[in-house]
Amino acid sequence: MEHKLTVYNTLTRKKELFTPINSPHVGLYVCGPTVYSDVHLGNVRTFTSFDIIYRYLVHLGYKVRYVRNITDVGHLVGDIDEGEDKIAVKARLENLEPMEVVQRYTNGFHEVMQLFNNLPPSIEPTATGHIIEQIEMVEKILENGFAYEVNGSVYFDVVKYSESENYGELSGRKIDELLSNSRSLDGQTDKRNPVDFALWKKAGEQHLMRWNSPWGVGFPGWHLECSVMSTKYLGENFDIHGGGMDLKFPHHECEIAQNKACASGNPVNYWLHTNMLTVNGRKMAKSEGNGFTPEQLVTGDHPLLEQGYSPMTVRFFMLQSHYSNTLDFSNEALKAAEKGYKRMIEAMDILPKLEVSEKSDFEFDAFAKKCYDAMNDDFNTPILLSVIFEAVKFIYRVKAGEITVSKVDKEGLKILMEAFIFDVLGFRKEVASQTDMSDGLMNIILDLRKNAKVNKDFATSDAIRDQLKEINIVIKDSREGSTWEVI
Ligand SMILES: [Zn+2]
Repeated sequence: MEHKLTVYNTLTRKKELFTPINSPHVGLYVCGPTVYSDVHLGNVRTFTSFDIIYRYLVHLGYKVRYVRNITDVGHLVGDIDEGEDKIAVKARLENLEPMEVVQRYTNGFHEVMQLFNNLPPSIEPTATGHIIEQIEMVEKILENGFAYEVNGSVYFDVVKYSESENYGELSGRKIDELLSNSRSLDGQTDKRNPVDFALWKKAGEQHLMRWNSPWGVGFPGWHLECSVMSTKYLGENFDIHGGGMDLKFPHHECEIAQNKACASGNPVNYWLHTNMLTVNGRKMAKSEGNGFTPEQLVTGDHPLLEQGYSPMTVRFFMLQSHYSNTLDFSNEALKAAEKGYKRMIEAMDILPKLEVSEKSDFEFDAFAKKCYDAMNDDFNTPILLSVIFEAVKFIYRVKAGEITVSKVDKEGLKILMEAFIFDVLGFRKEVASQTDMSDGLMNIILDLRKNAKVNKDFATSDAIRDQLKEINIVIKDSREGSTWEVI
């Protein structure tokens, strides 16, 4: 089967045929987390979206080098060039070494990724591990005349860059508007122009994270690391760069400028951006009181959550919406996702046990085509899920004896559904919870006892009752049947 994968490129604002630079190799770079606090649910959505993209590219047979960085220095409070480093603030508050903060939240991030079954990237580079390469890139940008040094800091010269390049090509911002909208500097910074951004910042006496450089002791600007690490591991021109849409400006716009100031040509062929998360129609934010963590979502320990939802329920819920659309969390939608996920997994358990017949009511080729068409259309997971549910419905109807399936179609269906549900969409079978399990076990025991009674085997039915009582489980018999409780 030929696969014509199309992706929505936020740089050209068009859906384009995906053509790798050096097929079957694909380079994929995704901006990772800044590890100064617990991972936000919005981040989980972003990384789950790129997990699907990675998984599908691998499924199509591409050899993907997936790079996702860890930002452990340079991301300042307020996302601008002034203020303290987010990690240093946390370290000071908790009286920790900055690298302790980094390690703690990196571990936490990995745990959450595993919880939601997101695959690890091929390379997970850190900003502090690439200080030398960052200094080298600053030197190159200076050499090419797109940066200037003032008092131990180096700034990117956006005005100079705009003479030959289009600063704003990704975000759609216009340099003239940026220039007229920016407030005057009043001598507060060393920048020539407010639109310029820091490549290297001089470290004050109090600054905890600091390195020697040709311009004195300092630390790298936030945007620099991604230019450096994507180029180092994927080359000066690579296939896909992704991230949350809030990173488009200034972060990704600055990345493009840095890359182009070093080497000619487009650094990235396809830019992919994921949309944000809302709760009951409102943006998820700490100030709104609706910013629950991934753990709270699983345990249900938050006023807005009516119950806990399993990680695969959350994954199912996330994939019911396209990555480029906003996703709204509500208890109703999550409960529906819980049912949908269970029905899908149950169908997968039923499928191998289905009886086969000569005649098949299943159109396998059409089904396979619809699965691939959905994913080839910019990784459209909601459409794919609806196609999978046509097959789920079919499986239940065959089980009910309403229609039939042939041996060949049953085998093909099993292979294809396993590939799409587990490999591409990244679902896994969840083990039943302790409560579900004890409920299930007790139902089996009560059924056995009922059968014993029906067969007038009162010795067995009494023995079951007495032995359960010894472990503090009491059976109550009534006309409606038997119930149990722990005393
Ligand atoms: Zn980045």
